[in-house]
Amino acid sequence: MKRAKEEATISAPRSAPPRRVSARRASARAALAAIERVPIPEDAALETIVEWTWKRFGPRVKLATGFNPEGLVVIDAIARVAPQLRVFSIDTGRLHEETYKLMVTVRERYGTELEVYFPERNAIEKLVRERGPYSFRKSVAERMECCAIRKVEPLGRALENLGAWVTGVRREQSATRSRARIVEWDDANGLVKVNPLAHWSQREVMERIRERDIPTSPLLQRGYQSVGCAPCTRPTRRGEDPRAGRWWWEKCTAKECGLHR
Ligand code: SF4
Repeated sequence: MKRAKEEATISAPRSAPPRRVSARRASARAALAAIERVPIPEDAALETIVEWTWKRFGPRVKLATGFNPEGLVVIDAIARVAPQLRVFSIDTGRLHEETYKLMVTVRERYGTELEVYFPERNAIEKLVRERGPYSFRKSVAERMECCAIRKVEPLGRALENLGAWVTGVRREQSATRSRARIVEWDDANGLVKVNPLAHWSQREVMERIRERDIPTSPLLQRGYQSVGCAPCTRPTRRGEDPRAGRWWWEKCTAKECGLHR
């Protein structure tokens, strides 16, 4: 497994600090400053990063997962080295049936108590009443609005009172993720973001899944390299970017929903 040798440095906040910094942000920034003094090596093993994260943040950190292979690899590591680290997911109301079944499998295999967050009821009812159930196909703006209601707003609630969150983001997944660090400052959400697989390749992820017999979605065998909401995901073709199957009708290359900015 090839690893960069330099030590991780913490990305600087992308924008000037707001005039009134909330207590949570101030506390998270203090944690970040402490981390900067003793950075975790960029080539640290997944389990080391997970343990390190748990020791520094304890109950104030959670893993976010959509049950893609990366998230499942991290769940498997959490179960072994930091089983108290909480795991959450967002149920947009438009997930594949296979994803719900995988949630059941993960709960049974790892004993994980999944924290599932749902969109705000009034916002969903208004969206569907006024724009219909497929408004996201009409324009990028309408798609982003649906993602904001179904994903970003519940994410904000899931991250409340946390000092850090863990993700399965990898640099090679897309151009927008190519500068992800192992540990970085998430300015949009005002807390530390830990991406323990940032430097992993897709091959390494799949090797780990085979080695540890980690459960995955049957959609993977049907060509879905990245699984999101059912109406917004299709299988990818050979040579395509792993996230090319997300919102495939859109011309732009920034295949993000607002969760990872
Ligand atoms: S992925 Fe599609 S259905 Fe899911 S929240 Fe975004 S636009 Fe809506």
